[in-house]
Amino acid sequence: MESRIRVTVWNEYIDELTKPLAAECYPEGIHKYFEGFLSAAGYDVRTATLCMPEHGLTPEILESTDVLIWFGHVRHHEVSDTTISQIHRRVLDGMGLILLHSSHASKLMRKLLGTGCMLKFREDDQGEILWVVDPRHPIAEGVPEHIMIPHEEMYGEYFDIPKPDELVFIGWFAGGEVFRSGCCFHRGMGRIFYFQPGHEEYPVYHLEPIQRILINAVKWAAPSPNICKYVQMFHEPLVGRDKIHYEIPEMPDPETMRKLREGML
Ligand code: ZN
Repeated sequence: MESRIRVTVWNEYIDELTKPLAAECYPEGIHKYFEGFLSAAGYDVRTATLCMPEHGLTPEILESTDVLIWFGHVRHHEVSDTTISQIHRRVLDGMGLILLHSSHASKLMRKLLGTGCMLKFREDDQGEILWVVDPRHPIAEGVPEHIMIPHEEMYGEYFDIPKPDELVFIGWFAGGEVFRSGCCFHRGMGRIFYFQPGHEEYPVYHLEPIQRILINAVKWAAPSPNICKYVQMFHEPLVGRDKIHYEIPEMPDPETMRKLREGML
């Protein structure tokens, strides 16, 4: 039997304690809401928040995490550089990472992608149409052609990111703006998915097709067991290990070669 994918959901967990609408959508916090539907999908889920010691992300927890989900918003600067460096290293070593909504401005996303990751935004209570633009992608499996999100904060282009390795969703907003709403990146051995929907004051993560996308994204981002041997190679010298043994076969002499060419042998 395959072992279950180990997911850690990290949430800043400030909005739900300070904004009544966010508290109404997620009474126990976004992290706990994710724990509910991801556990039901068969994943092994833990949660962590900003205020916990080491932000709930000790090296031991990171080491035993296959996929980290990240929701940050107003306190990006309070996440310690040590924690960011540890996560960065784990992603390069193969841990999957899903960055949600306002996490575009997190230290983590900026460090991994190397750009400012800023965008246009507007809160006007209007909706979004989220379009699948790569129906063959594993993250789009079982997802309808488009999803109507009744209320969502507008995020618009230009979005200051490197060209995504795979673009799975594009969002359309009532002001005419469009946005690269579901982008995949590969960094080292790690897979990263940035997903735009999820403004904390609207119950966007309650929508079944949105949950389907997130469940798929965890599966896509999880490292394959094959990665481990390569990662070990990055951090340990090859001293004392067997070299690859190979022999170059001897070429036939010119006369035999001629006969081979002419079909005489
Ligand atoms: Zn927002």
